Amino acid sequence: MVNVVCISESCNEALPENSTKYCSNRCYKRESQRAYRAKKDGKDYELPVKELNQPKSATVRRGSLYKKFIAVSYTHLTLPTKRIV
Ligand SMILES: [Zn+2]
Repeated sequence: MVNVVCISESCNEALPENSTKYCSNRCYKRESQRAYRAKKDGKDYELPVKELNQPKSATVRRGSLYKKFIAVSYTHLTLPTKRIV
């Protein structure tokens, strides 16, 4: 899973380089504390997955983008007629 924004529920900051979950130490600590408190109360705490962080199909040959790709007819742009050196 490739996260785009911080996975913390109350934060929508973009992730800095080399970070895969939290934008800052502050978010990490806040979520850790929530999980710790929930565990202490005997509950399960799971972060909701944000829409932005859902994995998407990267290819146009599969998935939801294929039909749109054909309808818009960009196919001629992806087939070069001559090779550029
Ligand atoms: Zn954050």
